[in-house]
Amino acid sequence: MTPALRSLLDAMLHAAWLVEPDRLEVAAANPAAAVLLGRPVEALVGQPVRTLAGTPEDLCYWDEAAGGSTADLLSDTFVTHADGRAVPVTRRIAPVQADGWHGWLVSLHDRAAQQASERALEVARAELAATLESTDDGLLVTDLAGRIRHCNHRFAELWGLPLDLLERRDDRAVMDWMRRSVADPGPYLRRLAAIEEATLMQASDQIVLHSGTVLERVSRPQCSGGRPIGRVHSFRDITERVAAQRRIEQLSHHDLLTGLPNRGLLSDRLERAVAQSQRDGTPFALLLLNLDRFNQINETFGHAVADRVLVEVAERLQGCVRQIDTIARLGGDEFVLLAHRSDAAGAEAAARRVMDALQRPFAVDGLTFTVTGSIGIAMHPGDGAALDPLLGHADAAMREVKQSGRNAWRFGSLHAAVPERQLRTRMRLDHAMRQALAQQRFRLHYQPQVELASGAVVGAEALIRWRDPELGEVPPGQFIPVAEESGFIVAIGDWVLRQAVTQAALWHARGRPLRIAVNVSALQFRQSGFVDGVAATLRAAGLAPQWLELELTESILIQDAEDTLARLQALARLGVHLSVDDFGTGYSSLGYLKRLPIGRLKIDRSFVCDLPDDAADAGIVSAIIDLARALKLQVIAEGVETEAQRRFLSQAGCDQFQGFLYAPALDVRSFETLLESPDQPQRVVPLRRQRP
Ligand code: C2E
Ligand code: CA
Ligand code: CA
Repeated sequence: MTPALRSLLDAMLHAAWLVEPDRLEVAAANPAAAVLLGRPVEALVGQPVRTLAGTPEDLCYWDEAAGGSTADLLSDTFVTHADGRAVPVTRRIAPVQADGWHGWLVSLHDRAAQQASERALEVARAELAATLESTDDGLLVTDLAGRIRHCNHRFAELWGLPLDLLERRDDRAVMDWMRRSVADPGPYLRRLAAIEEATLMQASDQIVLHSGTVLERVSRPQCSGGRPIGRVHSFRDITERVAAQRRIEQLSHHDLLTGLPNRGLLSDRLERAVAQSQRDGTPFALLLLNLDRFNQINETFGHAVADRVLVEVAERLQGCVRQIDTIARLGGDEFVLLAHRSDAAGAEAAARRVMDALQRPFAVDGLTFTVTGSIGIAMHPGDGAALDPLLGHADAAMREVKQSGRNAWRFGSLHAAVPERQLRTRMRLDHAMRQALAQQRFRLHYQPQVELASGAVVGAEALIRWRDPELGEVPPGQFIPVAEESGFIVAIGDWVLRQAVTQAALWHARGRPLRIAVNVSALQFRQSGFVDGVAATLRAAGLAPQWLELELTESILIQDAEDTLARLQALARLGVHLSVDDFGTGYSSLGYLKRLPIGRLKIDRSFVCDLPDDAADAGIVSAIIDLARALKLQVIAEGVETEAQRRFLSQAGCDQFQGFLYAPALDVRSFETLLESPDQPQRVVPLRRQRP
């Protein structure tokens, strides 16, 4: 053994010894070996090699070595420490020949520390798995690229994920499954992308699944060494909590017995009606119904029966109002009907319907009896602009009804004073109108109708305008009702039709084919020569019938069903298009419309103006569009003033819109300028144009 070999051995980091070939004893060992085995170097030298590492593999090796074999051996094994411990090592035996010496070098790498940390890791992993599984939340851990690193069974359960999908570790399939499970994937995906992009963002969202389950997702960044390395998403089933919240909300706005809106909700609706009325000048009515002698029912038949009567009254009332109206119960036997966009005549019609609805006898518990009611009516704006004053007037009127024999209706005191004054202004208007027609003071303005998908102008609605030298600009909402009452609307309507059709023919001749929509009043529609008149007007102007659309109101359609149907069919045969104006404000049902040759519905402005924030309106509008689709009807929305409204309608599948957002009704010159502007027909809807 040369000093060079010995110093090499001593300099080695790992434990090593040299084995002398004849007797197979340790010829030299280094200090690391002394540490590994817990014995001084001197004690090791001279030891038979078999006693230091004595596994069967080692013994076998040394047997073969004694027989002259010179192979290498590398494997994991154990050596015994002086204190009796088995120390895990990776051991190599290699024959060496150096400096004239030959024998074997045994070198050993201590694996005790590595094994300990492996075991600690294993424990941590088991603890993590147990923690993941023991929580009631579904957990999904992803890395920065969105790859799944962990998830628990609760996660799979909440999302209804098939287990094999998880076991396959097919991330894409799992993500697809989640996307397909959510009720509204568009916003879900956008939100997820936003969360993934902002690696440090904390987010909390509600996700509604097709199954109706509502999940709360909390996403937190997962950091290591201060840097984000992924995300932890936890999911919790909050379906019941959400349902309970909704129920509480519902209860706080509704009467427990009948489920009708209560006074609080009525007050909200009334505020909205006032705002609407201030915007467009339409009046509305508040009817207060008090059942007659209800105390007798209470006393004679008991509370249970009386309650059932109240519930049935509520149902009957709901059956006789329009979708837009509100029926509320104030308590006891008092109900309120809020009739939107309703003048005095409309209020009277509503009162009559309520009386009719009560007339049928009530049958409860084998008892049959009749219930009547007294109604007081207050009008906005005449009687006030808030619930209290309106109720006050209605209540006073209702008491008068009670005093004069019950089972009738009456208007509040302020309103009763109005007709005389109104009569005079009506006569004056009527006179001025007749002169206006004779002196050609009426004009038509045209409001563009725009296709939502393309942004192109596809038609125009003709709207009448009248500037009177004395009265100034009189809005049609003011004079058309007067003309309808006096019958003069027939003459005005003829003029409008001729004018609009002539204008459309002119645009056609100039290479601008546009469908023109003309408003038709009930009285005008009922004229015996109406259909022939339309045909003659089209012929005279040389306009093909399919370029004319008549806008009819729901009230026209439900009058005198047979005659109306015959007339509509004649118009349809002629080739003229028919649409329902102000749809949703009347009493017609879509089921009823199915039988009529109607091509288009025009969603009333009152449903559009609070979009997209008002959930009730958003629901009604979506429902109208969906049902219209099912009936293969086109849908146009009117009164679109904001980009948000347009976007909502577009997403809901509406076909066209008109409104100040694009343009108000314009005189012929301005309308033509708009059409000829270089960005026409537009692919996208331009930014908001100024109101006039
Ligand atoms: P309508 O048929 O519902 O017409 C739509 C009304 O909404 C028009 O009022 C129009 O100028 C207005 N409008 C259009 N876009 C918007 C908007 O974005 N926001 C708001 N707030 N309003 C918008 P206008 O011209 O005052 O007409 C009122 C009503 O008078 C019409 O309601 C229609 O019932 C009647 N009318 C107008 N012209 C005629 C006509 O020639 N014949 C008949 N019979 N009735 C007509
Ligand atoms: Ca219209
Ligand atoms: Ca309308």
